[in-house]
Amino acid sequence: MKILVSNDDGWFADGLLALAAQMRTLGEVRVVAPDRNCSAASSALTLVHPIRVTRQGEDVYSVHGTPADCVLVALNGMMEWSPDLVVSGINNGPNLGDDVIYSGTVAAAFEGRQIGKPAIAFSLSGDGEFDYAGAAITAREVVEHLIAHPLPADTILNVNIPACPRAELKGWRATRLGRRKRSQQLIEQRDPRGQTVYWIGGVGEAEDAAEGTDFHAVYNNYVSLTPLDIDMSHHRNVPQVEGWLKERGE
Ligand code: MN
Repeated sequence: MKILVSNDDGWFADGLLALAAQMRTLGEVRVVAPDRNCSAASSALTLVHPIRVTRQGEDVYSVHGTPADCVLVALNGMMEWSPDLVVSGINNGPNLGDDVIYSGTVAAAFEGRQIGKPAIAFSLSGDGEFDYAGAAITAREVVEHLIAHPLPADTILNVNIPACPRAELKGWRATRLGRRKRSQQLIEQRDPRGQTVYWIGGVGEAEDAAEGTDFHAVYNNYVSLTPLDIDMSHHRNVPQVEGWLKERGE
């Protein structure tokens, strides 16, 4: 089993180190990850300058680029090596509901779809001290289950692991994405030259955290596994837009 490991927090991040260590117990690993924190980079690609790759260790490469860059270059000729599985994380914080459209962790997994096999994004959800070593054991169990019981090739699994002690985990749940309220207010400051600058505020609280959602699972100490699809079409609303176009004779 050949496993490509990436993330958005950087190749040095504790969550990635813990995940890579567990993946090495399952097979041959290559780590290809950003050289800095790229959280909330989504699927951005670098097109305006070249992408520099630096070997940091036996099987570790840092990339001056985004998470999607990392997986793209790893799968398209940077090395003579083709993975059976792409995993991303373990992110320093949750990727629940609306978070998935901003997440670089999830984007790295989405970029892994190129190899035509499932990919998995792992995130640690909660407050306080994060036990990445414990979460990485859970991540390995998810990967082992996937290897033993493969999912369809176009499945991206978004896995959120509650940041509670492993002994307090209640189990695993298949979930759908919940929803967040709009993000918190901007934080306004003055720079040293008197100009107004803004910091983007914190994420919104959960709005839809009903039973069956990713929020509900992690809030109740269950590991949340949400299958994601690249298809963002709002299928239910296609007939509505068809009707709406009739108004103009289309
Ligand atoms: Mn991150």
